[in-house]
Amino acid sequence: MKKVLIIGGGFAGLSAARRLNRERDVSVTLVDKNKTSHFLPLLPDLVGRRIPPSFLQCSLHDLSRKYGFSFVQDNVTSVDFKGNMVKTASLSITFDFLILASGSQTNFYGQENLKNQAFSLGSVDDAFSILENVKQSLWDNFVIAGGGYTGIEIATHICRFLAKNKQEKRITVIERAGRLLANLPEEFRHYSERNLQLMNIDILLETTVKDVTQDRKVVLSNGEVFSNAMLIWTAGVKTGDLIGNMDYKKTRQGRLVVDEYLRLDECVFAAGDVAHIEHKGLALRMGVQFSLSEGLLAAENIIRTMKKKPLKPYRPVDLGYVVPMANGRSCGIVLGMPVYGCIPTFLHYFMGIYRSWTWENRIGILKSLIKGG
Ligand SMILES: Cc1cc2nc3c(=O)[nH]c(=O)nc-3n(C[C@H](O)[C@H](O)[C@H](O)COP(=O)(O)OP(=O)(O)OC[C@H]3O[C@@H](n4cnc5c(N)ncnc54)[C@H](O)[C@@H]3O)c2cc1C
Repeated sequence: MKKVLIIGGGFAGLSAARRLNRERDVSVTLVDKNKTSHFLPLLPDLVGRRIPPSFLQCSLHDLSRKYGFSFVQDNVTSVDFKGNMVKTASLSITFDFLILASGSQTNFYGQENLKNQAFSLGSVDDAFSILENVKQSLWDNFVIAGGGYTGIEIATHICRFLAKNKQEKRITVIERAGRLLANLPEEFRHYSERNLQLMNIDILLETTVKDVTQDRKVVLSNGEVFSNAMLIWTAGVKTGDLIGNMDYKKTRQGRLVVDEYLRLDECVFAAGDVAHIEHKGLALRMGVQFSLSEGLLAAENIIRTMKKKPLKPYRPVDLGYVVPMANGRSCGIVLGMPVYGCIPTFLHYFMGIYRSWTWENRIGILKSLIKGG
């Protein structure tokens, strides 16, 4: 019986565990610091569409019974690659094969002050905390740092919440670059900018957050000061310290450079946000579809290694992407075609429901969306 250890119970880790469940000669242990798996793509909807937090997470104990793995709730602190052993806060666990699938986290670029004062959007708890604060009407300004997918999406959801509750507050998206959605085609940038303007969301380009004070002032690089301001930081992600401390080749975001079989060495694989893969000359973006398929292939290649069969190279199938906006005017590429308005919005929620791990969550999300309109 070979021991496979998976670090991380997100999309990549669970996809691998589900595949390995079909094999008889394998015992699988999955370690995650949380007791639930969080459904990140719909976190902004917890604020704007009031999807209850319980439908955006799933018990890893329940999933361990469904997919036949042993679940350990603990924070992995280091990996001894020579001794084939993983250390958590309280345990040492040995493995024959390891899958690194610990995802990514908010990058504050070492600015401790921001880390302590700003809100972020990396977990259900983060989204709930934003909702609770928005609900209490304590803030006059909402400053969103980062004009990427997540920043734009949360700005529109806060706007939706405030409009539904007849509150008028200033919402501002701050972006360091000279344009929003810097890596996307120009037509999506213009469409998103126009949509934010339509929703009365201000955009400040070539601007950064200089400081955030304990008395709730947000100071910008252009000298502007927002008082009584809630700062939401969505200006970048990186892999966690566990990956950061590993002696393998990494990118600027700390992603591990894997070979075409998703390996770091013969018995260590990486999948999901932690893995850097080039596709058509560009880094494959972080996303659910790739995390799921990489987790699946990492598992498949472990089985092939055990059976001494040739490994399968990773050939990503890119179904596209959506920039979701809470007023239903989303944009993106679906199956190679540009799409605007309610179709990408519908597809975003369809995929969200389809990719949830349980029927209870799928039905709960669907009901909340119907109820919330
Ligand atoms: C707000 C938001 C919206 C997004 N929207 C979309 C979208 O619309 N479409 C899309 O395709 N993608 C979206 N993404 C990106 C997508 O969610 C990620 O690419 C995907 O979750 C990555 O999957 P993963 O399995 O690699 O990591 P994750 O899903 O992040 O799972 C990693 C797991 O590892 C655990 N972990 C981390 N460190 C440790 C440790 N040291 N010890 C033990 N456990 C650990 C974590 O607790 C977590 O459960 C969004 C992300 C965010 C934050």
